[in-house]
Amino acid sequence: MNPFWSALARELKPYAPGEQPRIADLVKLNTNESPYPPSPRALAAIRAAANDELRLYPDPEARRLRETLAAYHGVGPENVFVGNGSDEVLAHVFAGLLKHELPLLFPDVTYSFYPVYAQLTGVACETVPLDADMRVRIEDYRRPCGAVILANPNAPTGIALPLSAIVALVEAHRDVPVVIDEAYVDFGGESALSLVATRPNVLVVRTMSKSRALAGLRVGYAIGEAGLIEALVRVKDSFNSYPLGRPAQAGAIASVEDEAYFQARLKDVIAEREAMTAGVKALGFEVLPSSANFVFARKPGIAGADLAAGLRQRAVLVRHFAKPRISDYLRITVGTPAESARLLAALREIAL
Ligand code: PMP
Repeated sequence: MNPFWSALARELKPYAPGEQPRIADLVKLNTNESPYPPSPRALAAIRAAANDELRLYPDPEARRLRETLAAYHGVGPENVFVGNGSDEVLAHVFAGLLKHELPLLFPDVTYSFYPVYAQLTGVACETVPLDADMRVRIEDYRRPCGAVILANPNAPTGIALPLSAIVALVEAHRDVPVVIDEAYVDFGGESALSLVATRPNVLVVRTMSKSRALAGLRVGYAIGEAGLIEALVRVKDSFNSYPLGRPAQAGAIASVEDEAYFQARLKDVIAEREAMTAGVKALGFEVLPSSANFVFARKPGIAGADLAAGLRQRAVLVRHFAKPRISDYLRITVGTPAESARLLAALREIAL
């Protein structure tokens, strides 16, 4: 350990992002990126933003982007916060909204960045086990707490809760912040955005990394009552006033404005999710019902680590978590039909 490290740096247990390796002819199904390119209009806007004005700082408030997102979602610009990927938005949410006397609640199996943010920002937390079917049971959240955060659809299970369940959660927790991370909602979940108008404690977090194929641009956002957004702005302006550069703001706006392309690619991914699920099931895998752009699957009798290693040898990368309850599962991102064919061919060699 380096002697110059602070006590904080020494104690951190950082999140391990999925690999971005350089392997020839790789089928990359490990980080839930889109297999399709971003909207051509977004790419054109990003290229057009690469001009002389890059010598100037971007708009620190990202006003045009926030107005565009506000119009798209039917809220006001004061209800929208944008950040450098939803990971940054979430970090600010932890610092600005989730730190209270009582613990923050989230599932035992969920986005593994939550405990990392909790440690970084000193948020006390308590995990609530998923049930035996790997589902969030809202009744289990009826306990004293300082806040709740749920990914819906959940990751890495892909299972979505209906809006009625989120309403029940919010009813039971009117006096603490309830944050719904909707990174994957566009692929078939029911959004909680309609609650924001009447519930001053509900914040919805979204990303452009998955359904808008802009993981490389780093754009995420949150929607909530203006008072919640103000807390996030206070944290942002104590951290980095310019989280989104000019190309990112321009590309994000153009993506939102290209609804037809967005809907067409969603249809492609959802159709391939169903095809890939059928293919994997035909090989004897159990697949959790996914409303996301990935599936969570296991094959009884074969360890998840062995499956992941066998796939890697065949240049197919999926995500495996060496963690309690889920170590026999693979999280497989939905790719193109050709990528699914490569995946299935490799699994046939390993697991039949
Ligand atoms: N939330 C969940 C549930 C995720 O799986 C991810 C992707 N790793 C994120 C948020 C963050 O995505 P990004 O920072 O690319 O917006």
